[in-house]
Amino acid sequence: MRLILASNNASKLREMREMLAELEVEVVSQREAGFDFEVEETGATFAENARLKAEAVLRFTGEAAVADDSGLMVDALDGAPGVMSARFTGRHDDPDTARNALLLEKLREVPAEARGARFVSCVCCLFPDGSAIETRGECRGSIGFAPRGHNGFGYDPLFLPEDFPGRTMAELRPEEKNAVSHRGRAVRAFVRALRERRARDRDNGGNGGKLC
Ligand code: IMP
Repeated sequence: MRLILASNNASKLREMREMLAELEVEVVSQREAGFDFEVEETGATFAENARLKAEAVLRFTGEAAVADDSGLMVDALDGAPGVMSARFTGRHDDPDTARNALLLEKLREVPAEARGARFVSCVCCLFPDGSAIETRGECRGSIGFAPRGHNGFGYDPLFLPEDFPGRTMAELRPEEKNAVSHRGRAVRAFVRALRERRARDRDNGGNGGKLC
């Protein structure tokens, strides 16, 4: 079966391909499937935004589409930047360093014990028969006082995951980050759900394990 990834992000595409290889699912980017538009992320939650992206690609291609939406929620900022994570400074094309500087500025007066935060990722896969798989992953941690590390992207240099005390997300090796990250957890939950769905389809004798 083919699954259209509602993104053109090369690392998301590679990750999804690797994780779905054993299920013999061919993952293609939205551009490869002929969809070359930017979907406006107008949802109030990550789950809504993931669904908006998957819906747009399913409507255009008629094929099963999977999308993810993610961001950082900081306790002391009532969950901000949240769905605004990529636009925290008001400009999409600002570098990550500008967003990290703004976050540090907003938390200037906040002591270590009140700097709790979490990364959240929601995955939504929609099928032509109207059914859906929706999963969510979280990674708890806190926000440091200065950026450290050069791996990863976005807010990683400021985020100290609970699972690796004393290290920022940007100081983890890619496989360490993937083991505990919000996106790793959400995508693994999606892969499990997809595997179960295919097994059910096979048990029902239906279409030889095809999804739709
Ligand atoms: P998107 O879901 O790829 O659009 O990500 C939204 C924004 O959330 C990104 O631009 C980053 O600022 C932030 N973000 C999402 N995931 C991560 C992560 O794993 N590390 C650091 N920042 C992230």
